[in-house]
Amino acid sequence: MAAEVLARADVAVTIYDGMPSLGRKFLLAGRGGLNLTHSEPLDRFLTRYGDLDPLLGRAIEHFPPDSLRAWAEALGQETFVGSSRRVFPKAMKASPLLRAWLRRLGDLGVRVALRHRWTGFDDAGALRFTHDGRDVVVKADATILALGGASWPRLGSDAVWTGVLAARGVAIAGLQASNCGFTVAWSDAMHRVEGAPLKRVALSFGEHSVRGEAIVTRDGIEGGAVYALSARLRDAVLRDGGATLHVDLRPDMDAAALAAKLAAPRGKQSLSNTLRKALKLPPVAAALLHEATTARGRPLASLSADEVAALIKATPVRLTGVQPIAGAISTAGGIRFAALDDRFMLNALPGVFAAGEMLDWEAPTGGYLLQACFATGVAAAEGALAWLAAPAE
Ligand SMILES: Cc1cc2nc3c(=O)[nH]c(=O)nc-3n(C[C@H](O)[C@H](O)[C@H](O)COP(=O)(O)OP(=O)(O)OC[C@H]3O[C@@H](n4cnc5c(N)ncnc54)[C@H](O)[C@@H]3O)c2cc1C
Repeated sequence: MAAEVLARADVAVTIYDGMPSLGRKFLLAGRGGLNLTHSEPLDRFLTRYGDLDPLLGRAIEHFPPDSLRAWAEALGQETFVGSSRRVFPKAMKASPLLRAWLRRLGDLGVRVALRHRWTGFDDAGALRFTHDGRDVVVKADATILALGGASWPRLGSDAVWTGVLAARGVAIAGLQASNCGFTVAWSDAMHRVEGAPLKRVALSFGEHSVRGEAIVTRDGIEGGAVYALSARLRDAVLRDGGATLHVDLRPDMDAAALAAKLAAPRGKQSLSNTLRKALKLPPVAAALLHEATTARGRPLASLSADEVAALIKATPVRLTGVQPIAGAISTAGGIRFAALDDRFMLNALPGVFAAGEMLDWEAPTGGYLLQACFATGVAAAEGALAWLAAPAE
């Protein structure tokens, strides 16, 4: 995005990337439909970034969701507002958008140097890359770093830059998994429901609650609703050594209605059958209920109807750890905003700008991640243009 803004201003631009092709994580995001941005009002949109730094706020206000939609549409990718007001390209994938975008960059004269891994700066401040086993040194009038976070490192963003920049005096908040899953010490009985989705559930942690989907994995729990709570859960797990998430397995029925169904005479039908047939709970939900009661030393069948109903409304799941960052959707932490001036230039490295997920912001899924990346890309490029016009200021 930064390259596009610079090239439109007649700056000669080369994009260096360590991978054999561009936009690999962007393409992966497209596998989930490519949630480009969100259509809620901008003031609400900005609240999604938690403790929003004014610099990020101004960048998003300057290149807001409507501008991102217009940009995608100008590349032939019409967008639509889907469920929960998220915005997607109609194609529901990233590849046509990326193809059209790269064609446009080519038409603007942007050059692309692939398999160039940036390793830092030489003594004169030039950029150093490794390419085909050799060192390549490049002198640039301005540099924009957009090296991503640390999730899915095999797609290119491996956060090696943290060491390089920290050594140059750039303040960096430690990278942490964001929009991530958590580990749970499941008993062996849970393995038979591994991979099963808990659909239309509500998850809560403290006073925060979200509806959505979660998936029981071999050693934990993940999925959209877990990601939505993941920043708070992560902080609690890291602070306290664990956290308890509560799952409402039937958010659309209250405890009294559930208890009435459970108390109805069921003849020879087992409790498991009642859960499945009368309450429409899938095997994975029943397994979670058994798991919770077994942990307390009381089999589910020994509970009263009221107790089972209460448990269905708030099944506790004890989280013991945070999923490794490599498997997370995004990264929290990164270059602190205090290390940037209002042009997105690093105070410690004049002429070097930064954008995207490598900056220290965090947001849930919903299009907020890509929106912040695009907006800071525009801001860093405009900052670089201002600096190129008057480098001393
Ligand atoms: C499974 C998944 C699904 C997602 N879905 C969505 C979604 O639907 N909506 C949304 O908003 N966000 C989504 N995201 C997040 C979104 O993809 C990222 O936030 C975004 O791609 C970050 O953009 P970036 O340009 O900052 O970094 P990246 O996209 O990570 O790009 C960084 C680039 O820098 C290159 N690089 C890194 N280090 C070096 C180096 N030393 N030398 C040379 N090149 C280097 C990498 O090869 C890479 O090409 C998803 C992420 C994942 C993992």
